[in-house]
Amino acid sequence: MEHEPLLMIPGPVPIPQRVRSAMVQQAINHRGPEFGAAYADIVRVLKPLFGTENEIYVISGSGTAGMEAAVANFGKDKKIVSLVNGKFGERLQKIGERYGSVTALGSEWGTPLDLPGLEAALEEGAEVVTMVHNETSTGIRNPAEQVGALAKKHGALFIMDGVTSIGGDMVEADRWGVDVAIVGSQKCLAAPAGLAAVSVSQRAWDMIAENRPFYLDLAAYRKSGSGTPMETPYTPAVPLFLALREACRIIDEEGVEQRFARHRRMADAVRAAAGAWGIELFPVVDEYHAYSNTATAMKIPAGITDKDLRGTVKKMGIEIAGGQDHLKGRIFRIGTMGGVGTPEILATLAAVQHALRK
Ligand code: PLP
Repeated sequence: MEHEPLLMIPGPVPIPQRVRSAMVQQAINHRGPEFGAAYADIVRVLKPLFGTENEIYVISGSGTAGMEAAVANFGKDKKIVSLVNGKFGERLQKIGERYGSVTALGSEWGTPLDLPGLEAALEEGAEVVTMVHNETSTGIRNPAEQVGALAKKHGALFIMDGVTSIGGDMVEADRWGVDVAIVGSQKCLAAPAGLAAVSVSQRAWDMIAENRPFYLDLAAYRKSGSGTPMETPYTPAVPLFLALREACRIIDEEGVEQRFARHRRMADAVRAAAGAWGIELFPVVDEYHAYSNTATAMKIPAGITDKDLRGTVKKMGIEIAGGQDHLKGRIFRIGTMGGVGTPEILATLAAVQHALRK
């Protein structure tokens, strides 16, 4: 029997058949009630996953489009302090440099963020803070609540990349003081790649830049999104919206708390296996920073190469991820996102164990 390869990388993740089928339909009018209802359904399900009462807009573009929309609309010509402890924090920094003036607070990848440095930068007048909640490149979960409190205390706007936390781990954007949060469709939501969703607080609307981008103008998204039927300013990727709506139905059926608990259980199983194998987890955590519940990064042990490890696992029909940039060859990563459950995790851990003992 032919098996589809099992994708256990930290996104994209396997797409349930129901979601795949929802994509393959005759075209519909993107200015009609059917599309509007799908968009409204998506937003209704996403709100509790973001932990927000704010409106959410869906952009046809990957997670990075959401990151750029956030920074271009709310960080334009502003003093931005960018917290960086991995690849995606670095990406937010680079985007910030295109639009505003950035102070980057860099920590070694996978180590805690510089919270005292953040406080100092805010005291010196930083107006916008950027941070990645779940740093997929290193498997660390950054302290959104603490960063949000600091930003709020100093009246700064907080832009948070929740691309690989929202939908898989608890996010409480409103309670934490997150003004703009971003998620990508292909990660914990278990939909196809190609959509980003962005939530925007009133405080952020009050600070929106006058000189905004055209395609990613969030004020235009707000205008089109507030009518009946809900619309997007330009023709959206309709099949992806229909797929995301089906993915949202699955999330609704499972329940938010159950979904977070399952992600936590799967990540716990990976961490427990690492412990049993004597493999070190890559991130350095402390009272504010935690191991990610959606992507576990482990050091490649002596005696095996990245190529052999992932190659052997792949021969068994399972794909796991390596390290990015300077972490190539030093770490490997297992995603526990989306619909991943016990059978997938057991198969993955068995394959890794086989590769390690070969
Ligand atoms: N932010 C984080 C934390 C990510 O993990 C990723 C992708 O892996 C991105 C942003 C970029 O998203 P995309 O590749 O969908 O543009």
